[in-house]
Amino acid sequence: MERFDLIVVGAGPAGLMATISARKRNKRVLLLEQNREIGCKLKISGGGRCNLTNTLEPGEFLNRFKRWKNFFLPSFRAFDNQKTIRFFEENGLALKVEESGRVFPKTGKSIDVIRFFSQILKLVKAEVKLGCKVIEIDKADDVFRVKSSRDEVYSSNVLIATGGVSFASKCHTRGDGFKWAKRFGHTVTRLVPHLCEVYTKEDVSGLRGITLHKVRVKHRCERHNIDESGPLIFTDRGLSGPLIHNLSMYLLDCLGAWIILDFVPHRNLGEVTQEIGQLRKIFPTRMVWNLPIAGLPERLIKFVLRDFCGRRAASLSKKEIQGIAERFKHWKLSIEGGPPVERAFVTAGGVSVEEVDRKKLESKLVKGLFFAGEVLEVAGPSGGFNIQFALSTGWAVGNAV
Ligand SMILES: Cc1cc2nc3c(=O)[nH]c(=O)nc-3n(C[C@H](O)[C@H](O)[C@H](O)COP(=O)(O)OP(=O)(O)OC[C@H]3O[C@@H](n4cnc5c(N)ncnc54)[C@H](O)[C@@H]3O)c2cc1C
Repeated sequence: MERFDLIVVGAGPAGLMATISARKRNKRVLLLEQNREIGCKLKISGGGRCNLTNTLEPGEFLNRFKRWKNFFLPSFRAFDNQKTIRFFEENGLALKVEESGRVFPKTGKSIDVIRFFSQILKLVKAEVKLGCKVIEIDKADDVFRVKSSRDEVYSSNVLIATGGVSFASKCHTRGDGFKWAKRFGHTVTRLVPHLCEVYTKEDVSGLRGITLHKVRVKHRCERHNIDESGPLIFTDRGLSGPLIHNLSMYLLDCLGAWIILDFVPHRNLGEVTQEIGQLRKIFPTRMVWNLPIAGLPERLIKFVLRDFCGRRAASLSKKEIQGIAERFKHWKLSIEGGPPVERAFVTAGGVSVEEVDRKKLESKLVKGLFFAGEVLEVAGPSGGFNIQFALSTGWAVGNAV
């Protein structure tokens, strides 16, 4: 019976890096991928340009992983963003850095990342089976049996790098890894859509299309305490834009909880109140909802002050002015939901990190079983963080077996 040192299930960035790093150490590795090509997600990443990582300095990079920072620390240290950039460039893939430190292939084509990995796999003489869907994994007498659509293979170690369930219709990622993890006794935390819009209970469709360059969002529930600022866009059903995308997994984790929007984060309540008072003096005959408050879009002001219909600025009392300022500083909405996880860019939630060794990425429950990449519950913001997480954790597995 032929026995491998490592069978890797899934040829995304996590599985690819694990295969390469294990081969570099001369391990007998077999990489199994259900699709006919490697790196389906890599190909569609970054709008077909593939944002591989980010140049943020290491401490800040890790901070973006919030409560998972400590879990990510050892594998990131061993193969961080700088090492990743060197790895690609020294092996022939030229890169470029764009706005906010986002790193892309210089050609701007994700297909070049796929070609790059195909070449490296050849270079390290990795055994790869494409169009090979793994159906079952079990373990007896220290040996894993991996049953696929083609055959049965055996190994001392198995890496589950099957990703999440996002974009399943394109990449056929239907969460097989979660199923196997559960069978081996692992906890799989609730799958939550991430990097997506959120739907609000209140009807904000009248604000659809309004973009605000800096809004502060505060959100508190039993699990999260968020206070962040950034660009926000109103949609037909709720909120979107970079700030909301990056916070989506937290907002969607506590449905029904309030979020507070501050449309004027650069000024305090007193300053906004004062400004509205001055506007009343300058434009006494204007309708209240036509006052140019804090340079905000007219449509937003009209919406927020719609119950002042027919009122002129001169009629506003001191208390009402304060109340109007409060609306723009603390606009309350509640989150009702989001798109299904299959339609989000990233799946947050997954194999609980509590049961996985953070250095080796080996299961604490089953010796020789490893997890890397999006199959783990960890998720990062947009900007190259999720691919880097997959690359670093994959690299660590190849060095651990
Ligand atoms: C549209 C889109 C754009 C994105 N853009 C970016 C970006 O620019 N930057 C960024 O950092 N992140 C981005 N992401 C997220 C990023 O692509 C993923 O987080 C990353 O690819 C996860 O890597 P992975 O190796 O863990 O899993 P995946 O890349 O999902 O790879 C898992 C692999 O396992 C295979 N597989 C699954 N089940 C089986 C089975 N039973 N048998 C055999 N093989 C199986 C799948 O076919 C797949 O190839 C984007 C995601 C999407 C959907």
